[in-house]
Amino acid sequence: MTDQAQPTTDLARLRDVMLAMEATMDRAAILSELNRAITDTLHFDRGLVMLCHPKDQTLIFATATHKLPDAHNQLVLEQIQIELENTENDPLIVPWLKGQPVFVEDPQPYLTSRFQWVIKTLGFRLFYSVPLKIGNRLTGVLIIDNSPTGRAITLEQRTLLEALAAHIAITLESARLYQLTDEQLDARVRELEILSRIDRELNYTLSVERVFNLLLDWALRFTNSHAALLALVDCDKASMEFITAYGYPPGVWENLRGKIWPFSQGITGRAARNGQAENVSDVTLDPDYVEIMPMTRSQLSVPVLREDCPVAVISLESPTPGAFSTANLEFVQRLAARASVAVANAHLYDETRRERQKLELILSNTADAVVVVDNDGNLVLVNQAAMAAFHLPPKDRYAGRPFIDVFEFTRLAPLYERAVASHQGMVEELTLPDNRTLHVRIVPEPEVGWSIVMHDITPFKETDKLKNELLATTSHDLKSPLTAIGGYVELIQMTNPLNEHGQEYLQRVRGAANHMRQLIDDLLDMARIESGITLRYSRVKLLELVNVLADQFQPQLTEKAMSLEVQVPSDLPIIPADEGRLKQILTNLISNAIKYTPPEGHVWVRAEPSGQAAKIAVQDDGLGISPEDQAHIFTRFYRVRTPETESIDGTGLGLSIVKSLVERHGGQIGLESRLGAGTTVFFTLPLTQPTESEWLNGR
Ligand code: ADP
Repeated sequence: MTDQAQPTTDLARLRDVMLAMEATMDRAAILSELNRAITDTLHFDRGLVMLCHPKDQTLIFATATHKLPDAHNQLVLEQIQIELENTENDPLIVPWLKGQPVFVEDPQPYLTSRFQWVIKTLGFRLFYSVPLKIGNRLTGVLIIDNSPTGRAITLEQRTLLEALAAHIAITLESARLYQLTDEQLDARVRELEILSRIDRELNYTLSVERVFNLLLDWALRFTNSHAALLALVDCDKASMEFITAYGYPPGVWENLRGKIWPFSQGITGRAARNGQAENVSDVTLDPDYVEIMPMTRSQLSVPVLREDCPVAVISLESPTPGAFSTANLEFVQRLAARASVAVANAHLYDETRRERQKLELILSNTADAVVVVDNDGNLVLVNQAAMAAFHLPPKDRYAGRPFIDVFEFTRLAPLYERAVASHQGMVEELTLPDNRTLHVRIVPEPEVGWSIVMHDITPFKETDKLKNELLATTSHDLKSPLTAIGGYVELIQMTNPLNEHGQEYLQRVRGAANHMRQLIDDLLDMARIESGITLRYSRVKLLELVNVLADQFQPQLTEKAMSLEVQVPSDLPIIPADEGRLKQILTNLISNAIKYTPPEGHVWVRAEPSGQAAKIAVQDDGLGISPEDQAHIFTRFYRVRTPETESIDGTGLGLSIVKSLVERHGGQIGLESRLGAGTTVFFTLPLTQPTESEWLNGR
């Protein structure tokens, strides 16, 4: 800078000082700029700035151009607090509070002031003090001191200093406000950061206990509290239980832990009772207060609400009266709101986990083998019975692994794959390598995937086999005496001339013997079919077969003056079937149609292709079957009992044998009937060639 450009007058210097101070919003920078200006630019010996503490009306040290040679005194100066209240006669403070500067050329009269320590210690003899004011509020004092050199402080300088003081007051106040907003903004950002951290942690927390511990920890860390506790609220019993705490002496907490308190007690109880936060700045004045720690002066209690009902209360305590600000209260409330969501989640998770455990326990202990697979083909559950059935090591974890990997070499895999490919459930019997038989149900479960339930039916199978063996042998043994009875009936007839009654009795014996023979034949057949007959497949021309049967039934038809009409197209595809068994099916159905149709009735045998199968029907215009009876008609030994059917012979086994035979062929059977109008029994037979194993085992 050149000499010409350098400010020459005090006014110009002052303007420079003001501009330099305005350039910053940082209080420390403003004060150090002021220090520099007092000595370097304005050429005073020393300067001191005291500022009012915004809260408790005291003057405190802000800055000084020079440090005191004595370190202790310097420390005292920096810590000094000069009270501004009750200072009626203070020669310095009174004018300052009125906004009047005080020019001192003789310190003596001022040694009565509360400022005397400063005057004495700093050796003030010639000084000028100007109050810093914002409106009527004193914000500080600027003191210029020329004591070391004794240089006069001119009137012009004093006037300038007053202008400077006004400017400093405003600049410092704006900086303070700026800093305050800045700090508040900082605090808010910090709080948001904390809350988002809390959210993150709570999201990962599924234990209610941990949620509460985190909650207390944060509440304690980010407020002025010395101790914090959490009580679980039971609205129904109007009571609460203290479950966690921080910051209490061990003895105090031991007494409190697990204690059940009624709502009516304490500030915590009040918060639980009303579901509203309580910020009590002086607990000694609160009638509800119950002392837990003797030092406590203020308490903040915030309920954690779930659907407007308190589930817990957080209580914070501090030995300082009014320790909790509105910001503290709001922070803990925000914390509680977050915790309540986490508590709800944790409760839900707990419930689901308990339910799942219950279900797993039931499933793992059930004797049925259960496997659950999700929609991606991964295992959800394999119970112990399933592991045992398929020899899977029980210690391995199966959940999450692909079904196919785990069951790859078992006989269940092809069944499961077939069910999944067909998108339909299935019921099958599965024989395990150790000859045990499982009844397998594979069912698609919406939203889950597939459930496979396997019931061990080996004992039934064995009993069934025994039953069939028993049936076969006894039936066989019964046949010989029956043949003998038949033979002797003939002999009696040939050797003895019998009267009319004798003839009738013999006729009845013959009828009964025939009925028994039929029953034995049917039973034997039933037993044979059930123990797994081998179908002897051949290429059956249905029209030819039905025509042969029509001829065979002719005598019976004629006897009842009935007709039988064959409606089988000549171009019906050839049916792969066991011809003998198919003949048995049709014989049974035609025989029933004739038996259960009054004289002069009609019977039709029809057939037509239907998709991949042939649909064959035997229809009559006979007695018909009621809907109630239709439901049982394929059950073994079931016979309709009506006056019309009473005199008709039968075993009740015919239709169940027919059904078994149709199903062995891979077909299905059904019927339509109306009482008094007639009956149609229809069945399907697949037209596709059977595979090798179907040849052996039936489809
Ligand atoms: P059953 O040896 O008694 O004929 P089935 O098993 O063949 O035994 O038939 C069971 C019952 O169904 C019969 O007793 C009969 O009441 C009824 N039923 C079967 N076919 C017909 C039909 N075509 N019309 C009316 N009732 C029938």
